[in-house]
Amino acid sequence: MPDNERYSRQMRFAPIGPAGQERLRNGFVVILGCGALGSGIVQNLGRAGVGRLRIVDRDVLEMSNLARQVLFEEEDVRRRLPKAVAAAERIRRINSEIQVESVVTEISPGNILQLIEGANVVADGTDNMEARFLINDACVKAGAPWVYGGALASSGMTMTVLPGRSPCLRCVLEELPDPQALRSCNEAGVLNTLTGIVSAIQSNEVIKLLTGAGEPNPGLLRLDVWTLEFNRSVVKRRADCPACALKRFDYLDAPPREAAFVRGRSQLELNPARPVKLDLAALACSLRQMGKVEYNDYLIHLTLPEAQLAIFQDGRVIIQGLTDVESARRLVRTCVPALA
Ligand SMILES: [Zn+2]
Repeated sequence: MPDNERYSRQMRFAPIGPAGQERLRNGFVVILGCGALGSGIVQNLGRAGVGRLRIVDRDVLEMSNLARQVLFEEEDVRRRLPKAVAAAERIRRINSEIQVESVVTEISPGNILQLIEGANVVADGTDNMEARFLINDACVKAGAPWVYGGALASSGMTMTVLPGRSPCLRCVLEELPDPQALRSCNEAGVLNTLTGIVSAIQSNEVIKLLTGAGEPNPGLLRLDVWTLEFNRSVVKRRADCPACALKRFDYLDAPPREAAFVRGRSQLELNPARPVKLDLAALACSLRQMGKVEYNDYLIHLTLPEAQLAIFQDGRVIIQGLTDVESARRLVRTCVPALA
């Protein structure tokens, strides 16, 4: 029996009401990326009683996440938990009535359609445009509404895409911007007040879509929390949009991502050449002679003099401290023979 006292204040808000609350309870939302925006969205939707959440994220928590990412605590960082797992644990403690699932993976052309299958709405909590173009392709193809959100320094943006009814991300931005031209949060920084507001607006869009009440954001909303400028511009569907008009899904149909790529300054990620499932306990045992090992159900954290490695059960390895892919490959082959 749902605890309606819990939701009484939002049910008294007329556009939601008891019927809207029931729709939230029956809703299934997939949150792709659980950093600052994603954890804000998970918190808002979980507290509001959205019945089923799937949280997808590729990363392990770091201390620098705590300033913005509202679901996490110091203890989660000490336990070296993946963000998706820590977020799921926390929101289950906040609301035990909802179903929460965590998936620790990198979203890719190979898995995204499966990850969003059956979702009523998909929420963007990623931190890069390449992932958003992939989300756009997958959601347009699957006909799933999705809510884009971006935040950098003090300015943010959000847009709601209703496939077939409203403009999609590629109607607004046809090509992926040059990565050099895009500053990242690592370089430009980001304010927690901004990610709070953008994730709140994204959550509210999801709530409107699930309840069917209110009008979804019809265009592009830009805001700056420092200068307090809010600007809503109307965008139109493009008759020649590659994705929603021509049904050409360049990002979804792209070849799988290179096995190794640079994630940021002095951070590399290596993906296994073939699917594997590592026995983390056995591997942790053998790695103890090489360096300091910490491990949990999801990953091994290995500290070596030259680098730190996060080795995930699916064979993905994040390497901190090396910038050269070949040295990283050599190191990973030495540490994890199963990945050679
Ligand atoms: Zn489009």
